[in-house]
Amino acid sequence: MTLQLSLKDKTALVTGAASGIGRHIAQTYAQAGAKVAIADLNLDAARATAQAINQAGGTAMGVAMDVTDEAQVNAGCAAVAQAFGAVDILVSNAGIQIVNPIENFAFADWKKLLAIHLDGAFLTTKAVLPGMYARGSGVVIYMGSVHSHEASKLKSAYVTAKHGLLGLARVLAKEGGPRGVRSHVICPGFVRTPLVEKQIPEQARELGISEEQVIKNVMLKDTVDGEFTTLDDVASLALYLAAFPSAALTGQSIVVSHGWCMN
Ligand code: NAD
Repeated sequence: MTLQLSLKDKTALVTGAASGIGRHIAQTYAQAGAKVAIADLNLDAARATAQAINQAGGTAMGVAMDVTDEAQVNAGCAAVAQAFGAVDILVSNAGIQIVNPIENFAFADWKKLLAIHLDGAFLTTKAVLPGMYARGSGVVIYMGSVHSHEASKLKSAYVTAKHGLLGLARVLAKEGGPRGVRSHVICPGFVRTPLVEKQIPEQARELGISEEQVIKNVMLKDTVDGEFTTLDDVASLALYLAAFPSAALTGQSIVVSHGWCMN
């Protein structure tokens, strides 16, 4: 079967979709015909994103969800399944960044970051799987990073969490394969979202260099063309993976980083 990049009659739940990469994936999925749920800690921003999608002719709803809270995740996923009839595609995308050298990294910050990235991925997956298994189909996409494969100074918790997502995705590919569920990890390079804009001055301070040097000599140093990865780069890949028609493509980590990482 040839790949059709259409998500007509599909429903998607995207976490952390009130901003940045998640919002762009939700908009792209809506343009491809999916009904999308914008799940985020920030309900006002989630509703605003949903409203923008609805005004553009799509179908979207905002959902309040702290992905680290099991009760909120279960309630939010159930509300989406009830409103849309199902959750066919989960994009576990909510994330934060905290930079500090290990010796100064607060234990509370370590636990907070791992909870959002790893507990969030686990809890949302667990909540949508029974419905996917009942229907015999589904796709789960985890938002990894080049830091799922590479390390950078100051990012111990983030690099640990992003490596961990590879394990969860691979286990899900094995458990879900016979029941029609596929899983993947998307691994972007640096994308200019609020998460990255915040890091530029923080890294400049920690490393004792200018913001321009952080961009040129730290963030984009190893790309093939000195370019940031774009929201469209990531969302196009997310669409391709969601639309792929068979389990020929599952359990993969796919890097979209302008050649920074070639794993
Ligand atoms: P962003 O800050 O623009 O958006 C993150 C969203 O997650 C926000 O809307 C925020 O409210 C939400 N969020 C935070 N904690 C939450 C929680 N506990 N529950 C629910 N929602 C929560 O960031 P972004 O750059 O779009 O990042 C999205 C994902 O992409 C993250 O997992 C990040 O690690 C990953 N990523 C980003 C880049 C990049 O360069 N921007 C690169 C690789 C991977």
